[in-house]
Amino acid sequence: MYHARFQNDPETKMALIVQKYGGTSVGSTDRIKNVAQRIARFQAEGHQVVVVVSAMTGETNRLIALAKEIQTPPNPRELDVVVSTGEQVTIGLLSMALMELGLKARSYTGAQVRILTDDAFTKARILKIDEDRIRQDLNEGHVVVVAGFQGVDASGNITTLGRGGSDTTGVALAAALRADECQIYTDVDGVYTTDPRIVSEARKLDRITFEEMLEMASLGSKVLQIRSVEFAGKYKVKLRVLSSFQDGGEGTLITVEDDNSMEQPIISGIAFNRDEAKLTVLGVPDRPGTAYQILGAVADANIDVDMIIQNVSRDGSADFSFTVNRGEFDKTRAVLEGVKQHIGAKEVLGDKSMCKVSAIGVGMRSHPGVASKMFRALAEEGINIQMISTSEIKISVVIEEKYLELAVRVLHKTFNLDQAA
Ligand code: ASP
Ligand code: MG
Repeated sequence: MYHARFQNDPETKMALIVQKYGGTSVGSTDRIKNVAQRIARFQAEGHQVVVVVSAMTGETNRLIALAKEIQTPPNPRELDVVVSTGEQVTIGLLSMALMELGLKARSYTGAQVRILTDDAFTKARILKIDEDRIRQDLNEGHVVVVAGFQGVDASGNITTLGRGGSDTTGVALAAALRADECQIYTDVDGVYTTDPRIVSEARKLDRITFEEMLEMASLGSKVLQIRSVEFAGKYKVKLRVLSSFQDGGEGTLITVEDDNSMEQPIISGIAFNRDEAKLTVLGVPDRPGTAYQILGAVADANIDVDMIIQNVSRDGSADFSFTVNRGEFDKTRAVLEGVKQHIGAKEVLGDKSMCKVSAIGVGMRSHPGVASKMFRALAEEGINIQMISTSEIKISVVIEEKYLELAVRVLHKTFNLDQAA
């Protein structure tokens, strides 16, 4: 078991830990019993433990499907009433399992704790958490088990926080309770340099910064809900990702940037996103307002745009390209056909089979030449780069999807990510 070493209370060595267990970790009653044993060991070491659980794996999907059999799209308020039941089952079962081990345990739904949210059903944001009840239970020696993913709005309606929202519940509770650490238990033992299914040499990272993790999460490494990482960064919650199927590992610590940047690897990971599509409007008149006319129409249709490129104009017209999620391709194309007439552009082109590959690392702030190294490595493999975007800690390229695996493998090697730092 990972032994938490905390400095918070040097006298008692006692820490307050929030542990979140995902759907696979509580996917059966046997697994729930396992989780209970892990919690019991932490408590035996003298720590106070607050546990957040997801619904059993597959359960939220099942509940959403049920709702859709009755109404499409389901009424958002009622959908939240339905899907929040998944977590109500696991908190009760886990509390029973803890009691069976002789521990004192108490479960709470989001509304019972009072995890107060706004009223944006199915994607609510946490506004405030009452900690009194939890503190009192902890002081009386209880393990407190809280339903993830759900809250209650000011009028008493049940709300949910969006898919994967239990991570955010865990982090928000850790922030509210000023916990020493928030541990996210999942079916992987940490955050990797890239997806091990693509690169077998991928390594588990011992630590990664919040910023890097945000990029990794938003670029398709789906370990944590993005919002939970934002939350953790904002409230400086020490966040650790660990496996609930394995004992002993220290997982990956997600933390603030190291001052000692000499030690920092330049690139921490290679992230990717398969489901990209590219659209190009050819022959866009080069005058103020056309970018707004194109992207305004796309935004009005509620479509998220990612990378954008406009080339230099020849003879008064330019080409304007951007990427969207592949699922939005047809809708976007239809919007652009309308805009084309309106602004007098020539043609709309599209390509559905694109992907995005990114190199991420806070170390690139202080190391020039990362981009050229990346582009050279891709060129040597004959991979054509169609679009490029950069930020302080990230370089992304859009390429044909058929090159995804190759690109990820090559870049992983180019930046020596297979070698221990
Ligand atoms: N059960 C919810 C979902 O599947 C929340 C979570 O697991 O974090 O999205
Ligand atoms: Mg999850």
